Amino acid sequence: MDPASIAKLAYVVAAVLFIRGLKLMAHPRTAVRGNLLGSLAMLLAVIVTLVNVIRFEYIIAGAVVGALLGAILALKIQMTAMPQLVGLFNGFGGAASVLVAGAELIRGAGEGVNPYVMLTATAATAIIGAVTFWGSLVAFGKLLELKMFKRPFSLPGQQVINAVLFIGVLALGAWLVAGGDTSLYLVMVLVASVLGIFLVSPIGGADMPVVIALLNSYSGLAAAATGFVINNSVLIIAGSLVGASGLILTNIMCKAMNRSLANVLFGVMEGGTLAAAADEIYANVRSTSAEDVAMILDGAQRVVFVPGYGMAVAQAQHAVRDLGALIEERGGTVEYAIHPVAGRMPGHMNVLLAEADVDYDKLKEMDRINPTMQTVDVAVVIGANDVVNPLARTDPNSPIAGMPIINVDKARTVIVIKRSLSPGFAGIPNPLFAAENTLMFFGDGQKAILDIVAAMKEG
Ligand code: NDP
Repeated sequence: MDPASIAKLAYVVAAVLFIRGLKLMAHPRTAVRGNLLGSLAMLLAVIVTLVNVIRFEYIIAGAVVGALLGAILALKIQMTAMPQLVGLFNGFGGAASVLVAGAELIRGAGEGVNPYVMLTATAATAIIGAVTFWGSLVAFGKLLELKMFKRPFSLPGQQVINAVLFIGVLALGAWLVAGGDTSLYLVMVLVASVLGIFLVSPIGGADMPVVIALLNSYSGLAAAATGFVINNSVLIIAGSLVGASGLILTNIMCKAMNRSLANVLFGVMEGGTLAAAADEIYANVRSTSAEDVAMILDGAQRVVFVPGYGMAVAQAQHAVRDLGALIEERGGTVEYAIHPVAGRMPGHMNVLLAEADVDYDKLKEMDRINPTMQTVDVAVVIGANDVVNPLARTDPNSPIAGMPIINVDKARTVIVIKRSLSPGFAGIPNPLFAAENTLMFFGDGQKAILDIVAAMKEG
């Protein structure tokens, strides 16, 4: 067998491993194995690709710089900043594709490839890659909750501007394919960059999960397009897998928020409920203490924890697991209600609870737990806000209107653990905090839970 055939065979093996890895990642029990298989596939693809390399100096320099930057980022990053980092990595994927396709165009490469295919793929890479990079940077800023990005931003007639930019960049692409100058590529990248910023800036409220999933998909599509540019089958396959799985995730996120993709992408968000309403809503908030919560939990038969972003900030997952175990020792049952967009990245709560060794069977998805919420004695909301906000059901003008929530307000008693009455990511007040059956336990999530555990042990 000649080296080219061996390489092709190795790419097929890598592709099979990628697909098998993805399949295993569908369940938390097999996810680690899936991740390992995916990494193995990537290693194989990289090794086989390197075999064909003639000069290694640039590869080594790039790998050293990249590995250093990656290691520093991974070591320094706080666990709570993981979603931002993942968002940024999507963007880097887009940027890498733009650079590779641009370099190929300048080099005038593409032997053995139909020039129209190569130029069309190059144009597609410029558009998708640049939109992904700049869109991801804006999403990164929004996830960091930077003031500049936090509020949705749009110009008057934004949709028309976006449509003009999109048609313009497509026309430039057609010109490039029809034999235009290579400098058109740079213009395309610039126009698509502006489009990327304009597409993501107006999206706010609680719609970011959809955008993150979509940008993830775009990064894969950009890589697949680059695969056509450099005629590399494993890049086409891996990119398509990322693109397709990202689209499936986008669809899941849209369903979780009860929004259509068009509505998220083109429905510019307006303010939401007035901030002034918060004082009125919070007129009757009742706060509680660790001792009182311990007493309530002591007598409870069925307890449901509802974790949110604040649990990640407080790193309270281990303490929550210990409290759960204590309640079970005293004869209660404990479940964890998982909202699909809780936290700041898909699967965020599952990852945290798995890290704390919470039994996977105890995690209940929103659709499964909601119909039984009336029979819950105590719902303990830990650092969740938007995903338990009843305004989603009652205020059609709210940024989260129509989003299914975990109906904790239907439980007999609700304990909400958070530091203050500050809003969540969507920036709106939450009437749950002032409901008749709600008690607020103000404090850092981890400390609050540890205090409750101590009070239960003393009591
Ligand atoms: P929210 O962002 O709505 O609320 C989190 C709450 O945690 C805050 O109100 C905050 O209140 C509290 N908190 C922060 N730190 C602590 C702490 N140390 N201890 C205790 N509480 C703390 O979170 P949810 O999980 O309810 O909702 C997720 C939101 O993020 C949704 O709007 C979703 O659309 C959005 N989003 C989700 C993504 C995903 O893929 N899952 C991606 C991007 C956005 P306080 O400051 O008073 O303590």
